This record gives sequence, C-alpha cells and structure tokens, in this order.
Amino acid sequence: MKKSKTVTILGATGSVGQSTLDLILRTPDKFAVEALTAHSDVEGLAKAARATSAKFAVIGDPSRFDDLKDALSGTGIEVGAGEDAVIEAALRNADWTMAAIVGCAGLMPVMAALEGGKTLAFANKEALVSAGSLMIDAATRSGATLLPVDSEHNAIFQCLDQSAPKGVHRIVLTASGGPFRTTPLEEMARATPAQAVAHPNWSMGAKISVDSATMMNKGLELIEAHHLFAMPADRLDVVIHPQSVVHSMVEYADGSVLAQLGPADMRVPIAHTLAWPERMDTPCERLDLAAVGRLDFMAPDYLRFPALKLAREVMIAGGPAPAIMNAANEAAVAAFLAGTIAFGDIATVVARVLDRYVPADPISLADVLAIDSEARRVASALMESVVA
Ligand code: NAD
Ligand code: MG
Repeated sequence: MKKSKTVTILGATGSVGQSTLDLILRTPDKFAVEALTAHSDVEGLAKAARATSAKFAVIGDPSRFDDLKDALSGTGIEVGAGEDAVIEAALRNADWTMAAIVGCAGLMPVMAALEGGKTLAFANKEALVSAGSLMIDAATRSGATLLPVDSEHNAIFQCLDQSAPKGVHRIVLTASGGPFRTTPLEEMARATPAQAVAHPNWSMGAKISVDSATMMNKGLELIEAHHLFAMPADRLDVVIHPQSVVHSMVEYADGSVLAQLGPADMRVPIAHTLAWPERMDTPCERLDLAAVGRLDFMAPDYLRFPALKLAREVMIAGGPAPAIMNAANEAAVAAFLAGTIAFGDIATVVARVLDRYVPADPISLADVLAIDSEARRVASALMESVVA
C-alpha cells in the first residue's frame, strides 16, 4: 500500500465510522485524515479529530458549532457546521471517502462526492435506494469509483469475476434473520426497542438494527445490489443463514457458486475497501470453521417479514416507490425507537404510505428530495392518526 492515503469519513461518530477510525488509528503511517463529519456528537467528533490530526471537522447540526469550536480550539483543526459544510467535506481532496451517514440525510454529500469523481467506500444504502439510477449515472459520468462496504455487497464485489461479467446467473444475499427469526409472531409484534436492536451477530447503529429485525434491511440491500451490480430483480435472491459466516454468493451460468466467508465484523469489508485494490491486516478474529461446526440455510418467511416482501415489490415497481418506501421506513423506525408505534406497525405504515402517495417518477435529485420529504409527512400524519 502507498505510504499515505488521504481519507475522509462522513458519519465518523457512528458504528461504521468508528470501525473505520479503528483501522486507521492502528496504522497511522498509512493514512492521513482530511475531513471527519458527525451530526450532533461534538465530543465524539472532537475526540476523533484530535486522535487522527484531521484537517477539517464538521458538525452537521449548526446549533452545535460553538461547542465544536470550543472543543477543538488551539488544535489548528479547521471547523465547519451545517449541511453545506458536510458537502464541502465530501468534496475535499481525499484519495478515499467513506459514506457512513445513516439515512437519506447522506444523499446530498454522497451525490457531491460522486459528481466530484471520488473513490467512495459506500455504506449509506438509504441514499442509493432513494436515488439509485441518478447516483449510478453521476458516478458513470464523473468516473467515480463505488466500493461496496455493506458486508453482503462487499462479498459480492469480491466474488464477481470481472473477466466474465455476463456469466453471472444470480446473486444470493445472505441474511441472519435478526433477533426475531424464531420469536412467536404475537410476541414479535409487541417487541420493545431494546429487544429489536439486540442483533444476535452484528453490532450496529440503532436504525439498521431495527431494519435487520424487520428484515427491511435485506429489502434495502436487494435494491442496493440491483443498482450496484446492474442486476435485474429476478436474478436477486435472499437466503436466511443464521450464523452470518457466508456473507453472500454469486452464481455463474455454469453452476459454479462463489461465496465470501469471514467473521461478522464490519472491519473486514471496511478494510477491503480501505486497502483496495490491495489488502491490509486487521485485528479481527479469524474464522474457525471447525469451531463454527455447521452452517444453516433456509428460505425467508414472508409472513413473518412483510417488509422484505414489500421491498421486493418496490424494487420491481421502481419509479418513486423505493424513495417513498425508504422515507416512510425511516419515519416509522424513528417513531418505533421513540416509543410511539409498535414494532408490528413499522411495515404496515410503510405499506400504507406506498398506497396513499403516488407521485410521478423522479428525474432529478430535487424530485427525490421532494418525494422523500412528502413521504415522511404522509407517514407522520398516518402515525399520528393511529396513535390518537
Ligand atoms: P450510526 O447511527 O451508528 O451512525 C450514523 C452516522 O451518521 C453518525 O456519525 C451520525 O452523526 C451521522 N448522521 C446521522 N444523521 C445525520 C445527518 N442528518 N447529517 C449528517 N450526519 C448524520 O449508523 P451506522 O450503523 O454506522 O450506519 C451507517 C450507514 O451504514 C447506514 O446507512 C447503514 O445502513 C450502513 N451500514 C451499517 C452497518 C453497520 O454494521 N453498522 C453495516 C452495513 C451498512
Ligand atoms: Mg448488510
């Protein structure tokens, strides 16, 4: 690896952001940090900026600007605040930029980085679900490189035979099934936020943990794979694999299936993108298949996981549906985490918003943002009427 790669992390205080920082701080001679951003965690951002001697630290919430200035005074680290400053961070000169903001809030900085022709390590699946073809078109126009970070998509990326792309017959995403794979359905419908975020295999942020419990996460990932790998919907499948050892598979025309295996630690796929096209060491526990003993696979249960069925229909429908589904899901998950709706209501809210709100196909980023905000408004109104 080249001695010093300059890196920027959008969403540095989150779960993926912290795993990225962990790898960078272990090999400080190999990486120089250009910019770090966070939404409102001034303390976490300032700590990371000091530890990495970042050049630029940005807090998304402008009301925290003075606190950030105080926290970094005397360090010489440049500070910024607000959405425009996050976009400026995305456009800074860096060899590698990590997109790890959660939700559609990351769409503008991601688009800016893609239009700027950056090498983007990509975790922020909600942005791609909402603005799929616009994002891929922007990357194609500018020559930007998208390196998939999501463990399934990183596995697929590693298994794709670049010499024969037309030979791919099918892509199979693995899914753990989350914490409620075998919970009685009535109990699952009443699950608390604490139960929903307790993922059996992965340690992640709250939103994606709830998405894993409803399996909306796998639905978002189907749409993510559809765009990242230009794969038609009927060639994308999901298989439940509770051990999270096989991270996904690519099946070829001749019947060969290539899979990537590894520990359930996000530092593995992050390291793959960080060192790409080379490889780097990680401190992750090595996979010991004899200790794992057995690997199980089963078909997903659409009755238990209606969000997965919905997402597949949305992928096939295309148009504004993915942006609506994503926004309604973000609103419903936030309401569930705040204790205002039940776990079992999340998929129902998303389905109802998709029924009620039928806008024209988005053809610009402004259209996507307008659909996103209207879908959130429809979801909130619906949830208020349910609660009232
Ligand atoms: P997280 O909630 O732990 O962190 C989110 C980060 O985004 C934080 O740094 C936060 O400050 C920032 N952020 C939140 N709202 C923002 C806003 N409005 N403006 C600017 N910044 C904002 O989330 P996470 O689990 O790290 O997930 C990040 C993304 O990566 C998500 O899209 C998720 O689906 C994806 N992902 C995560 C994992 C995982 O293991 N955590 C795995 C695969 C994919
Ligand atoms: Mg994943």
